Amino acid sequence: MIGFLAKYDRLFSKEIIALAVLLLANFICAVIVSLLFKDQDAETKSMIQLASIAIISMLSCIVLLQMNNSRVAAVQAMGTLVQRDKLTNLASREVFQKNLAKHLSKCDENDPFILLMVDLDRFKELNAFLGYNAADLILQQFAERLSQLAETEEFAARIGGDEFALIIPYDGTKASLQARIRDLFETIYKTYMCNKQSVELTVSTGVTLFPDDGRDPEGLSQNAYFALQRAKKEGHNRLCCYDEVADPKMMDYHFLSQDMDRALQDGEFLLYYQPQFSFETGEQTGFEALIRWNHRDRGIIPPSVFIPIAEQNGLILPLSEFVLRSACETASKWGNSRLKVAVNLSPIQMRQCQIADQVAEILLETNLEPRRLELEVTESLFIDINDSISSDLAHLQRQGISIALDDFGTGYSSLAYLTSFPFDKIKIDRSFVEHLATDDSSMAIISAVIGMGKSLNMRITAEGIEDQQCYDILRLAGCDEAQGYLLGKPRDLDVEPVEASEKIERRISAVA
Ligand code: C2E
Ligand code: CA
Ligand code: CA
Repeated sequence: MIGFLAKYDRLFSKEIIALAVLLLANFICAVIVSLLFKDQDAETKSMIQLASIAIISMLSCIVLLQMNNSRVAAVQAMGTLVQRDKLTNLASREVFQKNLAKHLSKCDENDPFILLMVDLDRFKELNAFLGYNAADLILQQFAERLSQLAETEEFAARIGGDEFALIIPYDGTKASLQARIRDLFETIYKTYMCNKQSVELTVSTGVTLFPDDGRDPEGLSQNAYFALQRAKKEGHNRLCCYDEVADPKMMDYHFLSQDMDRALQDGEFLLYYQPQFSFETGEQTGFEALIRWNHRDRGIIPPSVFIPIAEQNGLILPLSEFVLRSACETASKWGNSRLKVAVNLSPIQMRQCQIADQVAEILLETNLEPRRLELEVTESLFIDINDSISSDLAHLQRQGISIALDDFGTGYSSLAYLTSFPFDKIKIDRSFVEHLATDDSSMAIISAVIGMGKSLNMRITAEGIEDQQCYDILRLAGCDEAQGYLLGKPRDLDVEPVEASEKIERRISAVA
């Protein structure tokens, strides 16, 4: 019986097994008593039986109680393991959330506190450099220092691999906030020792305040998290306090960043095309492909919002490949084979992917002549241009693809960039064009760029032309090509297909 019960130990808890054993013992005892005292009268026999059953039952209760106590102790010990992070012995994320909720239920406006989320900068690199064991030692030292700062040990937690949370009380004044943060930095920025090697750490920190920035545990933690993300995004080694203007944008940043991969799979990205015209002939010369995200819940999202996110999360590479492929595919179907398609390249794409091979492959696949493709690069690419980028660009150019320098005049604005590569085209940025009629210096810059471009044998495109006056000035100044809302906004060619070129010519000559 015991063997049978033991075999089914998982189904029957130890207490049930013990109870069954003790009941059996009671039964056996009753039988033995009746055999031993078979000569006694019935009354005495039942008294003896009752007494022995009572003794065995008492013993059963003691054994069961003992077993239960040890089980509770075991469960409690297990709970502590779950509640405490094994490596650092700090509270876990779940426990920290519970402690925060408990703390908040006892706090009122007169008990302000600071909630900090701290993330070790470049911990992955540290891991790779020192090895996992040594990096663990650093984490332990870091945790030890954090727990010194927290008022009680429930208020310091390890909430992720290299992310920590901390609650510290303060008196609600700015001076006290600054003093507590100074303490924090003084404690954690001291050198760490690891296998006799000294290691310097930097951290990014997000700060949120109770009651100013939130009153519920979720809201406070989330605000601290967004502030932390902003600190990381702004270049690490910094502290950001929750800001109700900047951080909702951060929230958006995260939402969009996480949703982007799905959107790419679901085909939510599409291209709009904006026409470009020759000043001299009035004919359309091509289209610039401009990406849009048609988000399932939010509708059209402009590239100024999601391109920087894609550049951060790495999705710029598949996104750029999609742009290049669809633009070439679309252009190959235009009836007018003189029209070029211009595609914007991200500097990351230029640095990280074999752009020359990718372009060659896509042109072959889509059957588009190289002379019909224009690639727009920005000045930022030329800040730390390396030989491989220059040779890729030169290689593409030799194939017949034209290379345009986009947004000229913004950013680093040096005429020196014009001589760093033999561009086919310079695109004067919209910011100069929009102030043309009112600002003499814009005109002077445009004239200088046109002069320089002509002497270097580069065509000049002016973008962002919104009115007739501007168009006329640029034509007289000697610009070659025009692009802007006056001549056509970017549009979805599936909805508004390419018009017959004569019609566009008539339209541009009417404008001219
Ligand atoms: P960009 O290359 O300078 O593109 C021109 C931008 O100016 C476009 O904005 C266009 O809609 C806008 N624009 C054109 N004419 C006018 C005008 O007359 N008035 C005004 N107010 N705006 C005008 P969009 O499409 O929002 O693109 C913004 C930027 O996003 C682009 O600037 C480009 O830097 C980037 N971008 C767009 N598509 C791609 C892409 O496929 N890949 C990469 N890497 N970047 C892209
Ligand atoms: Ca462009
Ligand atoms: Ca531009």
